[in-house]
Amino acid sequence: MTATVLIALEEHYAWNPASDDNVVAQWLLSNNKAGYDRLYDRGPLRLEQMDAAGIDFQILSLFDPGVQAMTDTALAVDYARRANDNLAETVREYPRRFGGFATLATQDPAAAAAELERAVTELGLVGALINGHVHGRYLDDPAYELLFEVAQDLNAPIYLHPTTPHPAVMDAWLAPYARDGLHLASWGFAVETGTHVLRLIYSGLFDKFPRLQMIIGHLGELLPYTAYRTDRYYGLGGDGVKRIEKLPSDYLRRNFHITTSGNFDPKAFACALDVMGSDRLMFSVDYPMDDSLTGAEFLAQYPMDERTRRMVASENAARLFGDRIPEL
Ligand code: ZN
Repeated sequence: MTATVLIALEEHYAWNPASDDNVVAQWLLSNNKAGYDRLYDRGPLRLEQMDAAGIDFQILSLFDPGVQAMTDTALAVDYARRANDNLAETVREYPRRFGGFATLATQDPAAAAAELERAVTELGLVGALINGHVHGRYLDDPAYELLFEVAQDLNAPIYLHPTTPHPAVMDAWLAPYARDGLHLASWGFAVETGTHVLRLIYSGLFDKFPRLQMIIGHLGELLPYTAYRTDRYYGLGGDGVKRIEKLPSDYLRRNFHITTSGNFDPKAFACALDVMGSDRLMFSVDYPMDDSLTGAEFLAQYPMDERTRRMVASENAARLFGDRIPEL
């Protein structure tokens, strides 16, 4: 539908045994068999949807929560390795259509760092996608510094993807309306992930690793909209000590890219583009939870100059991932 090269990078698949107990996959199996089949497919069904939308290339990632839900850490580490080996096979089979984000068992920070290195240097995956906190532990925990050091050294971006909010937040804020989905994509995912990003920024992670590149979806998990107040009131009410070298939104623009995954709202896009700049926005769908054609049509129709459109469609991703993805 458009001649513009399109790269989409928050595109999920399920794989057993890591997705065996996945709640959404089970729901799809009972309520939306076509959606279930698309989630598990890494071939014809997916390519048909991509072709219909004009999407040239998908970077695949294991569906939330994947191995991060597991309580047996050793098994999670083993499943992550097997999932990444398996994903690398798909990438080898369709090198011009699919790339892959590694999945990491963040239950074991040292194993996650080692697996990121293996996945990028030996398997040819482009980086990693992490589904938020793991059993309540966030990535600002110093135990993850090695993981981020590896990511920076390898120029391997880390996609911070939403997951179900922290159990204490679920209880205090969201549980009364869980039956309405308040804790999921309508609100809870964005607040959870936006808070996680600010924890990383406030921890000083990006002063330690200034070249580290991360990606967040859904047009920035509310952060572009709140950037002015986040900067203006950073430090207010605390002990007055500024523990980071820049303003929070400076790190957002220097260390993060944001994608359009599942958020095809022109008003939100205008805000994200204005706050982040045209070189920090990238196209994505959130397939199969969202619709590829809807996403592609949104990008084709949003009023912007053609240079900006090309940057968002593929050029920013091509620059970020370099020769880890093919020239399209
Ligand atoms: Zn997603």
